[in-house]
Formats: sequence, structure tokens, C-alpha cells
Amino acid sequence: MNQKLTPLMRQYWDVKSAHTDKIVLFRMGDFFEIFHDDALVAAPILGIALTKRNQKAADETPMCGVPHHSIGAHINKLLRAVRKVAICDQIEDPKDAKGIVKRAVTRILSPGMVYDPDTLDQLAPNFIAAIDDGHVAFTDTSTGESFYFETATPFERSRVLEVLRPSEIVLSSEQMSNAEEFAGAHLSAYDDKGEGFQEGAANEELPPACTRLRGYVSSLELSPGSPRSQLAFEKRGLATRLELTQNTIRHLELFENTRGLPQGSFFQVLNKTKTPGGSRLLRTWIAFPLCDQKQIEARLDDVESWINRPDELREVRTKLAAIGDLERRTMKLSNPNCNARDLQSFCQSLGAALELPLPGRSDNLSQICNIIARTIVDEPPAAVRDGHIIKRGVSPELDQLITLSEDSQTLLAQLEARERQRTGITSLKIRYNNVFGYSIEVTNTHKTKVPPDYRRKQTLATAERYLTDELESLEKRILSARSQRVDLELQLFEDLRQKVLAELSLILKVARESNQLDAITGLAWVAIESGFCRPRFHSGALTLESSRHPVVERLLTQPFVANDIRMNVGDCMLLTGPNMAGKSTLMRQVALTVVLAQMGSFVPAKQAVLPLFTKILTRIGASDSLSEGLSTFMVEMKETAELIQEADSRSLVILDEVGRGTSTYDGMSLAQAILEHLIAKNRATIFFATHYHELTQLEGAYPNVANHHMGIRDRSGQLSFLYTLMKGPANKSYGIHVAKLAGLPPAVVARAERILTGIERNQRGQLSLFQAPGEAPVPEETLPEPNPEFERLVSELKRLPIESTTPLDALKFVAKWQHDLRD
Ligand code: ATP
Repeated sequence: MNQKLTPLMRQYWDVKSAHTDKIVLFRMGDFFEIFHDDALVAAPILGIALTKRNQKAADETPMCGVPHHSIGAHINKLLRAVRKVAICDQIEDPKDAKGIVKRAVTRILSPGMVYDPDTLDQLAPNFIAAIDDGHVAFTDTSTGESFYFETATPFERSRVLEVLRPSEIVLSSEQMSNAEEFAGAHLSAYDDKGEGFQEGAANEELPPACTRLRGYVSSLELSPGSPRSQLAFEKRGLATRLELTQNTIRHLELFENTRGLPQGSFFQVLNKTKTPGGSRLLRTWIAFPLCDQKQIEARLDDVESWINRPDELREVRTKLAAIGDLERRTMKLSNPNCNARDLQSFCQSLGAALELPLPGRSDNLSQICNIIARTIVDEPPAAVRDGHIIKRGVSPELDQLITLSEDSQTLLAQLEARERQRTGITSLKIRYNNVFGYSIEVTNTHKTKVPPDYRRKQTLATAERYLTDELESLEKRILSARSQRVDLELQLFEDLRQKVLAELSLILKVARESNQLDAITGLAWVAIESGFCRPRFHSGALTLESSRHPVVERLLTQPFVANDIRMNVGDCMLLTGPNMAGKSTLMRQVALTVVLAQMGSFVPAKQAVLPLFTKILTRIGASDSLSEGLSTFMVEMKETAELIQEADSRSLVILDEVGRGTSTYDGMSLAQAILEHLIAKNRATIFFATHYHELTQLEGAYPNVANHHMGIRDRSGQLSFLYTLMKGPANKSYGIHVAKLAGLPPAVVARAERILTGIERNQRGQLSLFQAPGEAPVPEETLPEPNPEFERLVSELKRLPIESTTPLDALKFVAKWQHDLRD
């Protein structure tokens, strides 16, 4: 290392060399500075200016900095850019520092361990995950939620990871060497020394994935016994869950719309919860609906009981709204740098939660709230180090220190008065001087009256200054009162924090109960507001009366047309009908109704009888994944292949326009073969929308295929959509009409109409939707080429006003046309 380094930079490099894989934020006064290569990386990510420290000196260093009070958002930017961050703070008051201020790394942050949980999306969890051969474990350090699944195959594991989207995955170095499976995720390496099964909360062995997670979290917290690394892991079963693949989640727009935004998603429409914790729980319920009828009915009973008590429902929701984010406010207290305001807002949250009829309520917790309210001042400052956070009356020792530091003027005045009386020197004064401190000043005139216990301290031209034992001890007490007060306040604050953390699991239990109540009452609210009904379950039937799409009906300006859907399990509804007629909407509304029913919610229908599905598999719309080198058609076929592999007799399968991305005959053949396989081999319950009219012939070939179409009204070419589900196949395609409605230029529409007429007349080519069975199509190349010249001529001929045309004029026209054609 460069010998000419200043002591400060030497201190920096000592820290940096222990954290080479992280961006080090180095506290200097009111700023966190970033030096050297870290600065080169961080400045563009943070969008801040890059400057230089010690310009032109031997240790000139690139640097940038951020104010200490706003580092939360800056750190998130760095973490999103997939960088770990180490915070090196000042660990002593610069006023007390002898030489350079002591600094040390106080926190290490990663995408799963953010600096300030308030900067996270309130409605989504922030998981760190770890895996082992048979498990995948998750922990959200911002809420304390920790759980694991047993996974039978790596495929199942990837499925869970895809759905829960952890912001960080912790792998052992051995797993790291073979991590292609996790491409694109933020990976952190961590080898747990005591890796292996450990005892969990319920005297159950914890799998290695959980112990690695715990180890990793405490390694970042720099304290082995931190509350976050003590969290209990709950075992969750996948077998009792309705499986939704990532494709299904995307296609059904459960959490995001097609543009990746939350607006108009199923979650957004359904989420009527009042607390962030309730929203996050609802999210989990959507991602992991149930398939155990008992569990589903239990949730439905809860929802129904609130629907039947609308006044109480309203009241409980008002109380829930006062809670805020109890989970995150609680976990924030595990941060060593939490402040009195954090403790206060936690107390406000917990107090509000305790107003609710939650089973986990206890006197202990009410007492905690009371103690916090009694201890912390009403408007504490942001920095704990400044003191002034503990109320009077909490500790007699602190009261004395507060009196000393705040009432020092009064105490000095009292002493002064006493000394005047004792000595009879009315002009005696207690003075303060920066160098000599406190002293009793007596003018030369009264020097002789000075009592023997006065010790001379300083001689001035006109007066003498003295010290007494009493003044000396008062001085000491006053001068040290401030720092003693801060120290004692810090100690009392820390004691209180520890008192709260000692009840962490009880508090989190109450928080979870309040989330549960919020999610249930939110579902009750949406059911009342939107006129949902309680679903019933039957192993053989799927009957929806007046079924609606829960999202589309909210977004439409015109009324949504409800439909009746009746089929048996294992049936296939083959849907045809024009574009824009409502096929996709209908199929999705069935899938969403199943999700709602199996998460224990009422559903958008007048009556609903449903089987319990174990999987919903979808293949909808066109998308490509160019980043993975896959074309639209390749993506479609890959997804379909996966779907065929997965579907079984308890699956709901939604296929929308399969085979669209290739030539008509290829696509149609594939669509038919895929559908036949799903009907006969997979025996799934299927909704299949297609524009390949030929497929409607499958109705005769398979007893469980039923043709349906979405009705439209066609009045002399004026289309209107009825959005009603009707039996039988559609009789026409109307693609060109829809294109016209969409604003395709009239010339293009007209030209398309002429081509279609030609094709239909000749019964040939790609669009021969109504071609007689068995008739061979004519290859595409032999279609007549359009001739604009000829078309212009025909149009002039059509417009020729015969009545007013003389024979000579007619002859002239013919001559012109002949001439034009020759050109
Ligand atoms: P395409 O074949 O082009 O995909 P589609 O038949 O699948 O069309 P949808 O996308 O389902 O049609 O519906 C088109 C639009 O029609 C919807 O966005 C919605 O605005 C409206 N719509 C669909 N169903 C209904 C309904 N039941 N009641 C009212 N409006 C509806």
C-alpha cells in the first residue's frame, strides 16, 4: 500500500480490503463517501457526480458521496444493480475522538437485506432463498416470514422459485459451480460451517437449506444471535396447493398486466385489504391456492361469516386501517440503527392490532405498548445519539441528568445566591470561561471577605476568581451530564428494544393473525362490493351461472355480459367466433374463478359448482423470448410441450389459438393433434379457442368435445358483438371486419375483401376456412397477381355515365383504354 496515505485513507483501505466484493460507504461527517473503483462503479448507478479527493496529491482518489440521511434509496439502487454494500460508520462521537474518528463496518446489505424496509414495495415480499437436494427455503428478513417446501425434483424447485421470485439466492460454493439453473438471479455464495439438519421450532429437523439461510443472514448482520437469524421456519406443503405455473401467472395477469405493470392485474382488483401485511398474504394466497376442500371451506366459512355481519365488517376494517405495516415495523427493530421514531411507530401499530379480536393478544404485549408510550417522548428526534428521547419519570438517575443538563443555569444561580448570602458579598458572581471553566468572581474591593474554603483559580486586574468543592463538583456534573445523559438514554432505549425483541415471536404471531383477518375481510368486502357468490365443489361438474370476468368487468365502460358455462370434468369446450368476440375473456374468467374458489374466496357468478383442480395450465397469446434465442413460434411450442407433459385428469387447460405462429396447414395440423392428445391421453378439462374452423369437426369424433362460439350480430356488414356464449360452431370468421374496426386503411381492407372473395370463390389457398372436406387446396403461388392498371380501368368503366355519353365519346374512351393498356 502507498506509504504516503493519510491516516484516514489508511483506515479506509483497512476496511475496504476486508470487503473487496462490496461497495463500501464510508461515513465522513454528514456524508457517506465512496472511493476509488467503488466510486467509478457507483456514480453512474446513483446518477451522482464523480469528483476527486486530494486532487493532484500523491493519493488523489476518485470519489462520490451521498448525504447520510438519504442513503436508504441510494443503497437500493446499488443493490438493484446487484452489488452488495458495506456501511462503514463512525462508531464514536467525533467530539470525543482522540485523533482520527473510530470507524467500523456496522451493516452489510444485499438485495434480500435492504437498509430500510420502508423503501421496499409494500405489497410484495422480499425473499432470500436457499436450496438443497430436497428443499427450497425462503426468508423475508423485512417481515420475518420464513418457510420451506419439500421439492421432489429440480424442476419442481425451479417452479417454486419462479413463482416466488426471490431477490437473492444463497448457494454453497459447490452449488455455485453448477448454477446455470439460476441464470439471471442474484446469487450469493455462503458455506455454512454447521451445515446439516438442525432442530427447528417444533422440535423438527430443519433442512440444510434453512440452516444455510440462517447462517447467511447472521453473517450479514455481523452478529450470530441476531433476531433475524433466529426466525422459525414453517414447513409448507406443495401437495395441497393448486399448481399455477409461471406461464399461467403471466397469462392470467395475476400480478402484472401484459406490460409488466400492476395496473389492471387480478391482484390489484381483488386487493381490498387495509394493511400491507394483509396485501402480502393475499398475494401468497393467489400464488398458492389450495386444493384441500376442508381448508378451502374453512376460509370460505370465515369470509361468509363476515359477509353476514356487514356492520362489524366495516368496523373491523376501520380498525385494520390503523395498523400499518406491523410486520415490517417489528422487524425494523432488529436493525441496530433503528431509532425512537421506529419504536414509536411500531408501538402505534401493535396498539392498533391489539384492538382487534386476535387470538394472540396478550397482556404482555399490551404492557409493551404501555412501556413504550410511557418511556419515549412524544416527538423524538431522528438520531438516537442526540438523546432527548426518554421521558422524565422513567429513571431517577436520568431525571437527575436531565435536570442537570437542562437546569444548569438554575442550579448555578441557586449556588450563587447561597454564596452571596454566606459571604455577604452582594456583587459575587459565578462566571464561565472556555479555558478555565466555572469560577466564583469577587471584585478586589471584597477580596478580604472571601472565606477560607475558596481556592484561588485566576487573577484579573480588578477581581479574583475562586473555586469551591461544591462548584467544582457541580461543574463536573454539568459538563458530563450531557454525555452521561445521552449514554443513559441510549442504554434505556436499548433495554426497551431488547424487551420488545424478547417478545418477537409473540408479536409476529399477532401480526400474522392481523394479516389473516385483513385478507379474509378484504375478500368479504370484494364479494359484497362485486356481488360474488360462494362456490360449491363437486368432483364431476363445472357449472357457472351468470359468470363474469372479475377484472374485465371493472375496467369496461359498458356493462359486462355474464355467461352460463356448463360442462363435465374431462370435457373440452371448443370455442370459435370472430376476433374480439370475447373468447379469451371467457376462458380466462373460468380460470380466474377456479383460482378464486380454491383460494377460499367467493366468485363472480350467481351460482358456481366446481371440481377441485390440482393444476391450471395455460398457453395464451404470442410472445417471444429473444433474450433466450427463442422465436415466437418456438416459445409457443415449448410451452405447449411442457403443458402436454404436465396435464392430467385434474388439470384445467386453457389453450388460446395454438398453432398460430406458422403456416395455416402446419398450425392447424398441430392444433388438432395437440387437442386430440389432451382430450384422449391427458384427459384434462379443456377450453380451446381457435380460428381453425376445421377443428369444429372434432365434436363428432370425440363425445366429450362440444362446439361453442361467441355470438355476434351481423346487420348488412355492420358487426356488433353480443359476448354471449352459444352452442355450436361459429359460421364465419369476420377477421376483415375486425381489422376495419381497428382502423386498417380502407384500401387495405378493400383489397383484403377482394382477395378473400377470390379465394372463397375458387376454394383455394390459405384462408379456405369453409373448404369442402377432401378438396385439395391450390398452392399459394398460383393465386392471381393483383393488377392495379386493370383495376383502374374497371373503376373508370363503372363510373362512365352512359346516358350522357355520345357514340363518339365512347369510341374515344375505348381508344384511351387501349392506349393505357398497351403502355
Ligand atoms: P381474439 O380472437 O382477437 O383474441 P377474443 O374473441 O379472444 O379475440 P377477447 O379478447 O376475449 O376476444 O375480448 C375482446 C374485448 O371484448 C375485451 O377486451 C372486452 O373489452 C370485450 N368483452 C369480452 N367479453 C365481454 C363480455 N362478456 N361482456 C362485455 N364485454 C366483453
